[in-house]
Amino acid sequence: MAQKVLAEVKTGVTALRDRTGATPTLAVVLVGDFPASRIYIATKKKMAAEVGIASRDFLYPGGLSQPDLLALLRRLNADPAVHGILLQLPLPQECDEDEAIEAIAPLKDVDGFHPTNLGHLLAGTPTVIPCTPAGVMEILDHYGVELKGAEAVVVGRSRIVGKPLAQLLLARHATVTMCHTRTRDLAAHTRRAEVLCVAAGRPQVITGEMVREGAVVVDVGINRLESGKLVGDVEFDLVSKCARAITPVPGGVGPMTVAMLMKNTLQAARRHLGAV
Ligand code: NAD
Repeated sequence: MAQKVLAEVKTGVTALRDRTGATPTLAVVLVGDFPASRIYIATKKKMAAEVGIASRDFLYPGGLSQPDLLALLRRLNADPAVHGILLQLPLPQECDEDEAIEAIAPLKDVDGFHPTNLGHLLAGTPTVIPCTPAGVMEILDHYGVELKGAEAVVVGRSRIVGKPLAQLLLARHATVTMCHTRTRDLAAHTRRAEVLCVAAGRPQVITGEMVREGAVVVDVGINRLESGKLVGDVEFDLVSKCARAITPVPGGVGPMTVAMLMKNTLQAARRHLGAV
């Protein structure tokens, strides 16, 4: 599926270049030395190159002061040759993440984390949709999962996954329950779910007996065990026996997230070049 989205983006990039002469360009900003972030960025840049999107690096592994980070983001906002800005999270503790996200021009915010873009999502007039929730919706649509009237349960309420995903499901007429660390009886909720989306960042938080027979399970979690093995939030072996469908980790939502980032970048370039 991710390959299919990427192929569409590649075609779109070529068409846009033929029409306007411009190459969609993504500015990649990394502050601080996070090994996982370095891997994520390398994957995103590789994918960008494959679909013909140019990337420009602004890497500060030794850190960057908040005023300097804000100045850099404003410079990128004003640069007509930059169509999308990817601010890799997390930022070091001394930086203010909210302020940095707000400093990005909403139409260059290809992650869709800016309050303006999240507000549009809430208002039902989506502009830029956060990549991971967008990828989850693509997966559900691709497999023809009926959402209208369905019991959907989202575990996790982060700004980047749980909350926007719940809004997208709601917009598609699912009956949505959101669960989090203060939820009293998690299993009571998850057992009702026809569509269960899990983004808790806790290995095996969802076990076999917590899933309804025939449910569709989307596992967003990515956890590295001490052994080095990568696992999701769902106990895959047992849950896959009762679920109708389940996404694997690695290889499920992750590649879709990167593909949606490319799609958002192309969309941002189209908007800036007046080619929507
Ligand atoms: P986060 O830590 O910001 O949020 C986790 C949420 O899960 C919180 O709202 C918390 O209340 C809830 N939660 C934690 N433990 C819980 C429990 N035991 N029961 C119920 N709720 C619980 O994390 P995030 O940024 O939303 O990411 C979640 C997971 O998804 C992580 O593993 C992350 O690596 C992964 N992730 C994957 C992709 C991808 O492309 N596949 C993208 C983003 C995040």
